[in-house]
Amino acid sequence: MKFATKAIHAGQEPDPSTGAIMTPIYQTSTYWQKSPGDNKGYEYSRGTNPTRKALEACLAALENAKYGLAFSSGMGATDAVMKLLKPGDEVITGNDLYGGSYRIFTKVFANYGIKFHFLDLSDPEIINGYINENTKLVWIETPTNPTMQVVDIEAIAKITKTKGLIFVVDNTFASPYLQNPMDLGATIVMHSITKYIGGHSDVVMGALMMDDEDLYKRLWFIYNACGATPGPMDSFLVLRGIKTLHLRMKAHCENGRKVAEFLKTHPKIDKIYWPGFVDHPNYEIAKKQMRDFGGMISITLKGADLKETFRVASSFNVFSLAESLGGVESLINHPVTMTHASIPKEEREKAGVVDNLLRLSVGVEDVDDLIEDLKQALN
Ligand SMILES: *Cc1c(COP(=O)(O)O)cnc(C)c1O
Repeated sequence: MKFATKAIHAGQEPDPSTGAIMTPIYQTSTYWQKSPGDNKGYEYSRGTNPTRKALEACLAALENAKYGLAFSSGMGATDAVMKLLKPGDEVITGNDLYGGSYRIFTKVFANYGIKFHFLDLSDPEIINGYINENTKLVWIETPTNPTMQVVDIEAIAKITKTKGLIFVVDNTFASPYLQNPMDLGATIVMHSITKYIGGHSDVVMGALMMDDEDLYKRLWFIYNACGATPGPMDSFLVLRGIKTLHLRMKAHCENGRKVAEFLKTHPKIDKIYWPGFVDHPNYEIAKKQMRDFGGMISITLKGADLKETFRVASSFNVFSLAESLGGVESLINHPVTMTHASIPKEEREKAGVVDNLLRLSVGVEDVDDLIEDLKQALN
């Protein structure tokens, strides 16, 4: 089945009891048992719920994976992956990560004796120098947040496969419409569903997709034992959101390209980060592993201090100043004080997250209105 058909149908069938086309919201915590253990495969909704189960099957299909697990947030999904590890284990990851991922690694799991190496992954071979007998997992994000570096998934997978490491790709920025890391050798794909997959800024949710049955069983155990699982209403909202994922992504990419081209020559813009430019340092890899380039763009303002950056960030009429991304509405974010505030100044500046950097999530409004808004705000 092709992507658009999976987005609308995967995991979903007319409800057997009524024929309802839409998956019912099974708003129940528990299930009747005829006699102890004699049930229809459902016991308690922390572990299994039919609405969530339909969503998980759909999510797995979108990433060409066998199994999907939905979590009550992206961080809940990340937390579950890290709980596969033991004290003494080591993780290799990028140095340009979502702030919350950096925070859970350094402030939570480092306390449990797990060691993290934060590397510039523009040369994938760099990881060879950090792999030892304690290394268990490689975690990457691509494109990275917020500087839109593109990491070569296939090149990293080649190394992790020969060393027997778990290879996780946070695919939030690309969405499954633009990139499928499982096809390139990833072991687990992670998503913040909150962003493009949900798409309407009305749900916080996360997911993990994978092929390996043993890994799925271990992760399902953690999911049920630790309990960061989403409710049926949220699962329904995401199932509904996914039905237009392909249409939304097409519009995000089209608007993203026009906005990026407008900003590239604007006299107030210093640097612009968008992987669709031929002169982007990772353009060839982006072209190889992504179907299009998305609607996430970061810019630095020429000669602007923090005050001037704040003035611009607060001057928009159509874009909203807010954290998050991937919704139908356009958002603008100041990473240093918002999404990436939990990363120490020295660390974040190494990755280009500087005071005059702004990140745009280009929505699906009329692009003429978005460009007009940028013109007046940058003035
Ligand atoms: C938002 C985000 C997360 C965290 O997801 P939540 O749903 O907010 O918990 C992880 N990775 C990336 C790239 C994100 O943008």
